[in-house]
Amino acid sequence: MNPRERLAALPRARLCDLPTPVREVPALGAWVKDDSHSAPLWGGNKPRKLEWILADAEQRGKRSILTFGGLGTNHGLATALYARERGMACVLALVDQPRDAHVEAQLERIGASGARVYITRSVPRTAFAFPWIYLRTGRPYVLPTGGSSPVGALGFVEAAFELADQVDAGELPAPAAIVMALGSGGTAAGLAAGLPLAGLANTRVVAVLVNDKIKLTHATITKLARRSQKLIGQDGAPLAPLEVVTGFMGAGYGHATPEAGAAIEEAAAAGLELDPVYTGKAMAALRAGSAGDGPVLFWNTQSAQE
Ligand SMILES: *Cc1c(COP(=O)(O)O)cnc(C)c1O
Repeated sequence: MNPRERLAALPRARLCDLPTPVREVPALGAWVKDDSHSAPLWGGNKPRKLEWILADAEQRGKRSILTFGGLGTNHGLATALYARERGMACVLALVDQPRDAHVEAQLERIGASGARVYITRSVPRTAFAFPWIYLRTGRPYVLPTGGSSPVGALGFVEAAFELADQVDAGELPAPAAIVMALGSGGTAAGLAAGLPLAGLANTRVVAVLVNDKIKLTHATITKLARRSQKLIGQDGAPLAPLEVVTGFMGAGYGHATPEAGAAIEEAAAAGLELDPVYTGKAMAALRAGSAGDGPVLFWNTQSAQE
């Protein structure tokens, strides 16, 4: 079996409306792969990962899923919504992040999702509380922050094939670089693993760091990409060239920056809605020239449902 067939043979929960559209946005000097409407209950990049994660949890006979994030976590909300849809319970352990209107609204949605929520405040306290929460909630399926497990990253291996189909169909040129926010690494790792398998061997993955709560480096993303490759029998296959761009995060995860603010306004004027935590910072890096020469593709990982 070739890699795509290997992928197709793994269990998958169909949550998404795929393929998501691509379009050129000349005002931003880039093409956009727009995942904002990727799935009906909550869009963005998380449902792509959850297709593989929830199927894996079900196959392991798990009735509930425990995962982690900040107070405004898109990942936690998406996990809660899609788990519930499939009859599974969700438990969230959440750490602090700067509270603004968006974070408050997210917390309300999380409250309404039926998830059981533990506010653990910091990563060390989450680690400390973990054994108690795990036993207390009946040994759930444990999913790392952002859904960035090797299984979750398969969503972006699949997305690389989807993009290659769109390039083949003439919808966009083969990108020299793909720019995205780096929040937990699954998006970047999945694309790094998938692009060469999909025939886009020269496309660079440019991941813009926006999270300082967990360790995210070239090495950690490469390791995750290799573990995903392994799941589809591609141990040691080449990865796409990967660059981690720093300098656009500001004071930390969830802290606003003036550069992101300006990028959000510029994108809005061009009809593209971005957020201050992830995509605004990634667009700021793109606008500052971090992607280099050649056709640039911006991966819009933000959900339109808010
Ligand atoms: C989670 C998230 C990201 C980061 O993706 P990772 O795969 O976790 O690196 C980017 N943008 C948005 C809007 C997100 O919610």
